[in-house]
Amino acid sequence: MRDQKWLQNLFDEMWKNHFSDVPVLNNILIKFSRVSRTRLGSIRMTRDKKSSIILMNGIFKDPLIPVQVVEAVLAHEIVHYVHGFCSPLKRVHRHPHQGGVVRDEMIKRGLRHQYEVERRWTKNSWRGLVGRGMR
Ligand SMILES: [Zn+2]
Repeated sequence: MRDQKWLQNLFDEMWKNHFSDVPVLNNILIKFSRVSRTRLGSIRMTRDKKSSIILMNGIFKDPLIPVQVVEAVLAHEIVHYVHGFCSPLKRVHRHPHQGGVVRDEMIKRGLRHQYEVERRWTKNSWRGLVGRGMR
């Protein structure tokens, strides 16, 4: 079952396997959001900078969505943290999506497969799911 515990575990494994060199300078919280038609994931930081909060679309609780897709969306948000967006780390780009920097970072960190599965899924399935008004 894809509950909060599952999501936390996914985050812990992702960090351990692909981001363990990154300094953790505040609390990083991860949660499911409500089902959204417009965004797969997001990251924000509290005003006091003590917490960064990653929200994952509640649609990912559906076990029919490949886990690589969830991993890719999670990694995408973590890459923003690494690049200093919504995190206390030093900002390394002017814009969070400048010139494919998220893709490049994912590939560098061994997440090419997840990146590609997510791209294909977003193109072929995501629009279909939301278009049919799923949930
Ligand atoms: Zn992004």
